[in-house]
This record gives sequence, structure tokens and C-alpha cells, in this order.
Amino acid sequence: MTGEIKLTGIVLGSVPMGDYDRRISLLTVEKGRISAFAKGARRPMSALRAASRLFTYATFTVYAWRDSYSVTNCENQIYFDEITVDPEKTYYGMYFCELMEYFTRENADEKEQVKLLFTSLKALIKGSIPLPLIRKIFELRALANYGEAPNVFECSVCRKKEDVSEWIFDIPHGIISCRDCFKAAFGPVNPANDKNGLLLVPETVRYTMHYIITSPYKSLFGFNLSTEIYKIFEKAVGQYLKNHVDKPLKTLELLDVLDYNQNQ
Ligand SMILES: [Zn+2]
Repeated sequence: MTGEIKLTGIVLGSVPMGDYDRRISLLTVEKGRISAFAKGARRPMSALRAASRLFTYATFTVYAWRDSYSVTNCENQIYFDEITVDPEKTYYGMYFCELMEYFTRENADEKEQVKLLFTSLKALIKGSIPLPLIRKIFELRALANYGEAPNVFECSVCRKKEDVSEWIFDIPHGIISCRDCFKAAFGPVNPANDKNGLLLVPETVRYTMHYIITSPYKSLFGFNLSTEIYKIFEKAVGQYLKNHVDKPLKTLELLDVLDYNQNQ
């Protein structure tokens, strides 16, 4: 494929190259995640200077040649400057981008991940719910878009969907069972997140996960949780995510310290 094409997407990463250029990672609606060269992007008057900044959402005109892309123009930019002036929000945003790098591929249909990232960056700016909650919502929906949503919609044994107050979340298998079915199979075990990855979750937590996986993006960040419920939800999503990410993420260590401090 050769020639100019227009791609709508978000800058996930941007590194300097040579004296004046940049290489950017772009998550696009049309081509999935691609790497593109932005010639002269570090020159003071370059039109690509702002366009190659982290988090920039825009319509990028790129020249495609074989398997490589060069950015030639950029329109309709949204910059998310309110994130970059706040160090804490910047770390969250960088983590979201790093996780998107992990969960997306070139030439795959990543429209849903673009929408998720855009909405999540907006939620960081708005800040109407705690940042650690925004993070957990983002993680679970990113996993779902990646095709790895846990089945939290019914008991894996009796298929019951409602009138259950407590569930056993089997984190390694990504399934839930009602407490009665679990008891019948394994006896009166109390799975306080034992070494087999079982976690006792109240219906509120199951419903929260269900909601995040299925909600339209515009209402994805429109709820809050009590501290007690958040702690269980955080554990459920955190452990489930760990089972699906098999490499260390650079931004994660710092973010875990920030979340820990927020929860004290
Ligand atoms: Zn059951």
C-alpha cells in the first residue's frame, strides 16, 4: 500500500529521533496501532510539533509506504492539556496509553479501544470520580474490548442471574458461581481470596463489573462506589488484569504508589 491516507486516532507514545524528528505510536480507528515517523516535529515552527505530543487526538494524514508511515499533516486536534498540567493525571494517562499498547495490534479493528481511551482521558480531566476508580473501570473495559471479559453475567453452574447476594469470583477462570453452588461442590469453604484465586464478591461488585463491560461509553464513568465496595472491586479487577498481562508495565509501579496513598 502506497499513498496518503487519513487516520483518526490518539498519540500513545512519542520519542525523539535524530536532531529534529519524532517517532510516534498511534492508536487509530482505521489501522489499529501503528508506528509513524513525524519528520521535523521537534522544530519550533513545525505543524507536527503539537500533533506529536502524548494524548493528542486528531485526524492524521499519513503517507504509507510498504509497512511504514510518515505523518504529513494533522487536523481537528484535541490536546488534553488539562491532563499534562497535572502530574498525577499525567501518570494515569501514561498508564492508560501503555496498557493500550499492550492490548492493541496493527491492522486490527481497535475502534472500541480508541473510544475507550478518549472517554477515559476526558474522565481524568473531569475528575468527578476518584482517579483510582477511573483506572479500574478503564482496565476492565479494556480487557473486555480485548476479548477477555470475565463472564460475570450468570452462575457458571446453575445459570442463575439474579436473587443472589454473594458470588464466588473464580479469577483464573474468569467465571462466577453463586455461593450455594460453590458450597455444594466444595463444601463450606470461605474463599477470602485464597491461593486458588477465589474471591467472595457481593452482588454490588458483580453488577458493577457487568455494568462496566456493557455500558455505553458516555455513562461508563457516571457512578461512584463506597470505600468498602471499592476495595473488593479493586481487588477483583486488579487480580484479573494481572492474569492477563504477562509483562511488567513501566508506568504501573509509580501508579500503585499513588493509588495506595489515595486510599489511606
Ligand atoms: Zn449457582
